[in-house]
Amino acid sequence: MKAMRHFFSWAGTLGVLLCGSVCALQAQQFEVDTLHMSGDVYERINFVIMGDGYLDSQLEKFDQDAYRMQARILAEEPLKNYRDYVNVFAIRVPSEVEGAADDPSMPIGNYFGSTYNYAGIQRLLVPLNDGVIMNVLSDHTPWFTQAFMLVNDTRYGGSGGWVATSSTSIPATEIAYHEIGHSFAGLNDEYWAGAQYARENVNMTANNDPESVPWWRWIGDQQIGVYEYESPGNGWYRPANGCKMQILGAPFCAVCKEQFANTILSSVQFVPGWYPEKLSVGSIGEDPVEFGVHVLQTTSESMHTTWYVNDELVAQGDTMYSFNPLATPIGDHSVSATVQETTEMLRNNTYSWSVTWFVSTTVTDVREAQVQALRLELQETVVDRELVATLHGDSRGKARGVVVDLHGNVICEVDMSVGTAQHIELPSIAAGMYLLQVQSGQARVTSKFMVR
Ligand SMILES: [Zn+2]
Repeated sequence: MKAMRHFFSWAGTLGVLLCGSVCALQAQQFEVDTLHMSGDVYERINFVIMGDGYLDSQLEKFDQDAYRMQARILAEEPLKNYRDYVNVFAIRVPSEVEGAADDPSMPIGNYFGSTYNYAGIQRLLVPLNDGVIMNVLSDHTPWFTQAFMLVNDTRYGGSGGWVATSSTSIPATEIAYHEIGHSFAGLNDEYWAGAQYARENVNMTANNDPESVPWWRWIGDQQIGVYEYESPGNGWYRPANGCKMQILGAPFCAVCKEQFANTILSSVQFVPGWYPEKLSVGSIGEDPVEFGVHVLQTTSESMHTTWYVNDELVAQGDTMYSFNPLATPIGDHSVSATVQETTEMLRNNTYSWSVTWFVSTTVTDVREAQVQALRLELQETVVDRELVATLHGDSRGKARGVVVDLHGNVICEVDMSVGTAQHIELPSIAAGMYLLQVQSGQARVTSKFMVR
């Protein structure tokens, strides 16, 4: 079944624009069920299922039909991998009449006007009331990405176009998924639907050179080749024999899966946020700083995060990186995260996203305060050739004390630590004036003492 009703979508949109507030006043409110919720509707792909030809007493059946349909679709590739990129809703619309009409010229009064035999083709099942569909969607789920019409009729049928439509006949899920291929991913049928539908596309071409067909990167892999639509030839070629775009019940071929992935990844931000939010982090203290990215992970966990400090790879896999300033030279640094979609579904495009923070490990305000707070306590006059000195302050790490005479000659050196009285032996020191200089990190403090 093909995307044959694109022209209607303009009329539908125009109808909504013209209606304005009058329609809003008349709008009928229906219940909206959430069938699958992965995130904010403005940050996800939103599928909305409506039902036609369900009586009020059959709305529970609609609930079950809709739930089953979306559950099956989200359990099969390519959407399986992107479950968390998708929300699914169902609008519970009751009809006065059950099922679909047999013929477009004889409407039966179901809510959305669904009928078989559209354009004289029996299996072509189409909801004709585009204006009504648009009103229901804009009143209930204005942020919808793709709408489906599930028609409560057991006769085989469906159609593509701006609303993917299928009956509740057994392959309803298959029809729906195939139609999503048209309506959402923009794919062509891979069966011969007629010359009027033939066009150059990712899965259809008039070129038969395996080295330059749009899917040349897939040739020879997963049964991808160059297959003519009809034999003897009509000059159009497809990538597979037996893709879901050709046969219901089959999986999508690799080329069609890739096109789904392209459509999803180019419409959903797969890294919706990061922290710290401010990229210019500035000076940091001595405590580790956590950098992180919020990644919309795929089912196969194919979103891969890599961390760099000053362009050097430092970590992979985690969405968080702990930057330790004590293990980093003092100065300016960059911390970067790159998130890449590594799914095997993609060959023609790569999707990656990066963020870079700037951070300084120069002396911080806090440390400067510590420098000023560093203080030496010692007796002014040394007797018995022993100096007792105590270093005060919040200094971290080691401190080094040096005793020098007034000419700058080093008498002795000693390790010191804050808060501990240090006994410094000076056995052969001459009487006179001396200095004790203590260095700790960037901080330095000097005191004089007298030896008698
Ligand atoms: Zn295909």
